[in-house]
Amino acid sequence: MSEQPIPFTIASFYKFVSENKLMAAKCSECGTVLLPPKPMCTNCLSTNLKWIELEGAGKLLSYTVIHIAPEQFQSMAPYTVGIVELKKGLRLPGMIRNVNPEEIKIGMNLKIDFDSSTSSQWPAWTRYFFKPL
Ligand SMILES: [Zn+2]
Repeated sequence: MSEQPIPFTIASFYKFVSENKLMAAKCSECGTVLLPPKPMCTNCLSTNLKWIELEGAGKLLSYTVIHIAPEQFQSMAPYTVGIVELKKGLRLPGMIRNVNPEEIKIGMNLKIDFDSSTSSQWPAWTRYFFKPL
């Protein structure tokens, strides 16, 4: 894993997402994985971090159907936003697509996918979503 001078920020996270990569910061001191990335380890306060690529698959922990959406998502409403538990207990919120809201179940297996059709720039967060495996 090569160390790169890419700042450990949300902006960098989304830049990776735009390249179809789910990346997190991993503390080189204690091994804590920070998702979303932060510039300092939340466990040991070290700034000795490196980027790691995560496998974007996990189980749905909870979800909410959004009927009244922010302006930029209004055309998609109602849509579902969930929290997905990835490996090692990492949690990542995201939109759930390609499934009817009534078929969504807690514990279902989901996989990350990347939306290359959105033209919106950072700080939009529609560039990744989850879909059923
Ligand atoms: Zn640490």
